[in-house]
Amino acid sequence: MGISADLEAGPVLTLPGAPLAFHLMAKPTGAVCNLDCEYCFFLSKEMLYPGSRFRMAQELQENYIRQLLEAHQRAPEVIVAWQGGEPTIMGLDFFRRSIELQRQYARPDQRILNTLQTNGTLLDDEWGAFLKQNDFLVGISIDGPREIHDTYRVSKGGKPTFDRVIRGLNYLKDHDVEWNVLTTLHAANGDHGTRVYRFLRDELGATFIQFIPIIERTTAEAIEIADAGWGGHVEGRPLYTQHGNLVTKRSIGAEQYGRFLIDVFEDWVRRDIGTVYVQMFDTALANWVGEPGGMCVHAETCGLQLALEHNGDLYCCDHFVEPDYLLGNITQTPMQELIASSKQVAFGTDKRDTLTQYCLDCDVRFACHGGCPKDRFASSPYGEPGQHYLCPGYKLFFHHVEAPMRAMAALLAADRAPAELMRAYASDDAARGRNDPCPCGSGRKWKRCHGAG
Ligand code: SF4
Ligand code: SF4
Ligand code: SF4
Repeated sequence: MGISADLEAGPVLTLPGAPLAFHLMAKPTGAVCNLDCEYCFFLSKEMLYPGSRFRMAQELQENYIRQLLEAHQRAPEVIVAWQGGEPTIMGLDFFRRSIELQRQYARPDQRILNTLQTNGTLLDDEWGAFLKQNDFLVGISIDGPREIHDTYRVSKGGKPTFDRVIRGLNYLKDHDVEWNVLTTLHAANGDHGTRVYRFLRDELGATFIQFIPIIERTTAEAIEIADAGWGGHVEGRPLYTQHGNLVTKRSIGAEQYGRFLIDVFEDWVRRDIGTVYVQMFDTALANWVGEPGGMCVHAETCGLQLALEHNGDLYCCDHFVEPDYLLGNITQTPMQELIASSKQVAFGTDKRDTLTQYCLDCDVRFACHGGCPKDRFASSPYGEPGQHYLCPGYKLFFHHVEAPMRAMAALLAADRAPAELMRAYASDDAARGRNDPCPCGSGRKWKRCHGAG
């Protein structure tokens, strides 16, 4: 059975084979942003829509909200996620209308969570009040302390943005809005795991942290302009697509990524289990106990994280907003039909079905699952193409956390809190000499590494 083509007034139907729930990131301004972060591959996506104003029209906004809510009739919750570019450029009235539309189209007991991913620079008191009143969960992008953050996250004029972001965050705090931090990992902060983590935890007060590696893939022909920054100067720049096996100088190194995570983990495991949620660690623990959930990059299959452009075009994933991965337009084909399409199903299962032999043989595959297909452009040690660029870092990290993950999984199985593990670490640390090597594997003395407080 298909869904009626009468998209404006069609009956409420659930398409057989359609998923119960999915995560759709809507980009109401497309890739348009008020900043010009040097590593931003989003901005070049403007080239996909030449001449567009990049504003989601009211008609489409209504159509989108209605379809999204209808598609989640049987799900315990529906997430209305706004992202960009920079979604706050749309102005508050756009989001007020979104809430009105949700009231209009929600079934009586339907639970709705609104989320907003923002660079924070346009937030003010009025935004803070609105976001609180409507229980938004806000993700704010901060790359670390001032000099690290300002390395790449700059304004259109190349000016630092740290103060503007912190001002925006303070509006969220003033209004007690639920927020989390998204920190991208790159050449400028990749060697400073503990410092970045402690800044987020102690100076910002973050209790939910996501780390996203910056891997700017490029070709030999494009590396010069790519190294200069994908940013907003799209003229003369190529559209960022999944090609090439080189990375820009801003990208995080593979082992550097693993070391960063280990550095943070060694701090977290001693004092923050159960109080600070680091998405990567939670995902790892979920995989260790065999529970679904967590980050799509470390799930066996994917395909339930899609992206909606400002004009209704639906793409397989936010990282695949490019012509080959366009599923269709939700004003012409119902969203559910596009998500249940064989193209999208294959996109999701390909993640599992295209693993290299090296991955298939890997002892931490259950935790890693080969990483995101977008970054599988390296060669495996067996000489196969299609290996994840971060594989050496993944191996380092997953092997390093093996024992504590097993211990936390055992605590959970015994109906005890994983936080109990901190006591075992404290007693091991008490027996450690100040000049002993740090167990993080950095090669530094304990007193100069994770024992330094
Ligand atoms: S805030 Fe930076 S990374 Fe995010 S969309 Fe704008 S320019 Fe790109
Ligand atoms: S392609 Fe990558 S980012 Fe997109 S859903 Fe799959 S694993 Fe996640
Ligand atoms: S650690 Fe490397 S080999 Fe193992 S599953 Fe991940 S990407 Fe594959």
